[in-house]
Amino acid sequence: MQMFLQCCGLVALCLILGCHATYRTTARELGIPDAERIVEEGKVKVIAPAHSPIQTFEFTIGQRPALVDGVSYYLNRPAGTKNLSRDDIQLLRAALMEPMAVKPTLNLLIDPGHGGKDSGARRGDVHEQVIALAIAREVQAQLKSKGHNANLTRPDEKTTRTLDERTQLGISLNVDAFVSIHVNASANPEAKGVETYTLPAPGCDGSLPNSPARGALVGHTYLVRSTRLAYYVQEALLQKDAFVEQPTPADRGIRHAHFKVLRDVTSPSILIEVGFITNDEDFARINNPTHQKVIATQITEGLLKGFGLGAQE
Ligand SMILES: [Zn+2]
Repeated sequence: MQMFLQCCGLVALCLILGCHATYRTTARELGIPDAERIVEEGKVKVIAPAHSPIQTFEFTIGQRPALVDGVSYYLNRPAGTKNLSRDDIQLLRAALMEPMAVKPTLNLLIDPGHGGKDSGARRGDVHEQVIALAIAREVQAQLKSKGHNANLTRPDEKTTRTLDERTQLGISLNVDAFVSIHVNASANPEAKGVETYTLPAPGCDGSLPNSPARGALVGHTYLVRSTRLAYYVQEALLQKDAFVEQPTPADRGIRHAHFKVLRDVTSPSILIEVGFITNDEDFARINNPTHQKVIATQITEGLLKGFGLGAQE
């Protein structure tokens, strides 16, 4: 009886203080056992101590879209009622909560999507392949100016390269990362914003419709680093006030797909969709040379930060 009363007292105390058992294991396994956890109406907020590399994780029970320090991130599996899936906990911890070995000089392959016979998405006479090449060239120039090696998968607008040729080039150059740059398109002219893709974790569905889970792929070997790069690139592209006289891009999140350039390269690999050619606001940003430079600057900063070479690290 006394024990029963003690338990009741503890439950009552928890109700009064608002403490929750939910997501306790998640916080501990993310390496932040002393994190504050707020659970309200199916929403979970995990607030890490100030010294943590990531301060807040926000989840919605039963859903995949989450927020990591305010950046949209698709979980590999829907958030559970008591905890995240093991796939997500392990990946988030390894990618974002733990230090990584720093390599001072990088060797990167920048992949402007499409090219030659394949112009990609278009709006009037403006083609995705031209925008992607302009941004990729600027990323290459900025990386080189900082002392890194950077190559492109195609040199100009005329050259056609298969996806296989692109991934093989990444493998033969033994790159530290493969970074694919694309422009999005939608039948819905309201669709807008930036997306950065990685592979889903092994055995997990992609975040696109009709993107069913697959078994282990070559790209999974590098998924931790790919996730880290995707996070910091997406964060950099959303940085407030980076674009002068342009709205900050909408955040469509870090998403997951089994794209060939993500699954068949023997290095970390991400695919960035810098905006929608079909949306007026995005088009004004991605088709303007000044803003293309800013996009390239943000991508470069995100990549360097992801490799532990950012200004803040
Ligand atoms: Zn494309």
